[in-house]
Amino acid sequence: MARVAVVTGGTRGIGEAISLTLKDKGITVVANYAGNEEKAAKFTEATGIPAYRWDVSDHEATIAGIKQIEAEVGPVDIVVNNAGITRDGTLMRMTYAAWKEVIDVNLGGCFNMAKATFEGMKSRGWGRIVNIGSINGQAGQYGQVNYAAAKSGIHGFTKALAQEGARFGITVNAIAPGYIDTDMVAAVPQDVLAKIVAKVPVGRLGEAKEIARGVAFLCGEDAGFVTGSTLSINGGQHMY
Ligand code: NDP
Repeated sequence: MARVAVVTGGTRGIGEAISLTLKDKGITVVANYAGNEEKAAKFTEATGIPAYRWDVSDHEATIAGIKQIEAEVGPVDIVVNNAGITRDGTLMRMTYAAWKEVIDVNLGGCFNMAKATFEGMKSRGWGRIVNIGSINGQAGQYGQVNYAAAKSGIHGFTKALAQEGARFGITVNAIAPGYIDTDMVAAVPQDVLAKIVAKVPVGRLGEAKEIARGVAFLCGEDAGFVTGSTLSINGGQHMY
């Protein structure tokens, strides 16, 4: 029987590419999203992939969402924690609300999804969890103490949970994307973006499908010996 994967934030941007790539690999994919109903409806119509709405920073809603998916689609074997937001600003300007929201969605979402699915994976002796970090969690970024802290936290979360899952056939890995051409990056001012791209050895933004291919590898049957790893997909930017 096909594996079942849940991709958070799976209806647009990098998540959409991940959903489609996993579907192409024969996996039964379910996408989650936060609130962009119009995009989610178009996504489901175009791909046939069902989309379930909940906020991954809401613990109870995440538990309920996974319960519903397991009842309607089947036990969840694969989780891709891709949902993420930015609320940028220097520390002096950043509100506590902007700090908390970014930590709660980007990092708290990983905890909530793992809590909802890990026990089931453990009981079935197989699981794959892939967390989408960021180059800015590895290197930091001006104006992003909230985002860099959350993404850096994802890398620690990944290595700790990998140790808990290893004996039960569950692998937990992270991908640290560089700058990828999505709505999130469209929000970065053009002059700032040009300076960032100038520092990328391959000299361009990445494409969502380039991240999705890495996710598909880590979710595959053949990747059982890869756990606690971070795959940098950023055109070589992590070296600088
Ligand atoms: P987008 O802003 O294009 O899409 C974000 C997705 O996450 C949307 O589907 C959105 O749902 C969903 N989402 C946001 N908040 C929540 C929430 N609270 N609960 C559930 N879903 C939520 O982002 P990208 O595709 O650019 O980024 C995807 C991931 O990759 C993020 O974790 C991001 O931090 C990371 N990343 C991105 C980089 C880039 O350059 N783009 C670089 C490095 C990392 P809805 O459509 O309903 O709003």
